[in-house]
Amino acid sequence: MALTLYNTLTRRKETFRPIDPGNVRMYVCGPTVYDYAHIGNARPVIVFDVLFRLLRHIYGEKHVTYARNITDVEDKINARAAEEYPGLPLNDAIHLVTSKTEKQFHADIAALGVLPPTVEPRATEHIPGMVRLCETLVANGHAYVAEDHVLFDVSSMPDYGRLANRSLVDMEAGARVDVAPYKKGPMDFVLWKPSKPGEPGWPSPAGIAALGRPGWHIECSAMAEQHLGQVFDIHGGGIDLVFPHHENEIAQSRCAHGTPVMANYWMHNGFLQVEGEKMSKSLGNFVTIRELLETTKFGDRSWPGEVLRLAMLMTHYRQPIDWTSKTLLEARLNLLRWVEAVRGSDPRDETVSPTVIRALENDLNTPEVIAELHRLARLAKSTNQDDEPSSAANQLVWALNFLGFGSHKDLLRINEELDHAIDAALKTVIEKGITDRNAARKAKDFKEADRIRDELSAMGIQLKDAKDPATGEIVTTWEVKR
Ligand code: AMP
Ligand code: ZN
Repeated sequence: MALTLYNTLTRRKETFRPIDPGNVRMYVCGPTVYDYAHIGNARPVIVFDVLFRLLRHIYGEKHVTYARNITDVEDKINARAAEEYPGLPLNDAIHLVTSKTEKQFHADIAALGVLPPTVEPRATEHIPGMVRLCETLVANGHAYVAEDHVLFDVSSMPDYGRLANRSLVDMEAGARVDVAPYKKGPMDFVLWKPSKPGEPGWPSPAGIAALGRPGWHIECSAMAEQHLGQVFDIHGGGIDLVFPHHENEIAQSRCAHGTPVMANYWMHNGFLQVEGEKMSKSLGNFVTIRELLETTKFGDRSWPGEVLRLAMLMTHYRQPIDWTSKTLLEARLNLLRWVEAVRGSDPRDETVSPTVIRALENDLNTPEVIAELHRLARLAKSTNQDDEPSSAANQLVWALNFLGFGSHKDLLRINEELDHAIDAALKTVIEKGITDRNAARKAKDFKEADRIRDELSAMGIQLKDAKDPATGEIVTTWEVKR
């Protein structure tokens, strides 16, 4: 089967045809480095890591170039640096904040089993490319200079809004009234802006005398151009980036290079919310990758990186994820069942189940992959352990390895880490499930009763009903499916 991917640009699933199979090129917008990455930030990192692994499998390791940038110049970074190191010159403080945060980010995502991308460009190392793009856009009439800013003139691009599927007329009608007075049109956006004294600044383009710094969108246009060329294959990021960030990257790159597209396939992961709500500091449900790995802040326990990775992949990447302790418990039990199934095996020939590859080739259908892993685990368990090492166990080991869960040795280590005891948090979830199910049955809502039973079953918990001979009442007990 051929690889098919959902393309935000055309709003349908398309067969993936690389420009050059000898060098398949993908760009993903990376983090702005001023604080610990939250678990929502981990979603694009994990999703596109899976795609990177799949592309390498299809085209060969040496034939895929994956660029994921680091945004190290941005207002939020300046604010954080001034707050954290008030005594230092701002530029020194910024350097401390960005280098520290970058290290934290790398450690966090390594714990999630994420491969390093081929290149990890930093915005501050690509300023000349951004200046060049600004110069070109001013020279060819797509941008203008006003009050030391360079602004992109959206009216100069007939199909501005195509990615977001919005018309310029509608966007302008909805634009807020407090538009900066120097803009010709309300949707025009900043390519370059003047720096305040003490802020990071570079010699400006287009004859502007003041020192300045780039806008956010131009950073990605310049880094993608330098590492992947003017037109490349896949551009990814979270769904929140479609507008304005990606729309504006497209406008800048296409108008500077005179190309019909910037990238052929635009992919966006759905949003992650926590316990049913948008993650935010004020709601108190903001959770970083580091907190999940190292503290008991979420779900009263810390979680191995593999559990977090699996929890992320149990939902299809385009669907929203509700990040709950229940999801993590389910992921943990799944992982436990799989590592148990491969414990006695002696994996040799490296073969990844074709069913796993086919499911991934179908727009990264990871829920289908997980169903296949369960099938392999069941098969491995039912195979007589005295026989030849089970080929199902072998396939399960290699599938998990392919998906970023490490080698057979790593899986055995995970087995040690995942304490087998059912912890208090899980007990509470199960007992509440049983009470709710009994209440539903009393009310003759059998659909709801079955839904609860299936939900617990998906978490690896089997319910057993038996009549109490003394009272005639149904008593429900539970056990962990092995
Ligand atoms: P930022 O540092 O906010 O620019 O985000 C870095 C990446 O994380 C981008 O690709 C965002 O789209 C993505 N992202 C941020 N928040 C979430 C979330 N709650 N769920 C999924 N992706 C997110
Ligand atoms: Zn970007």
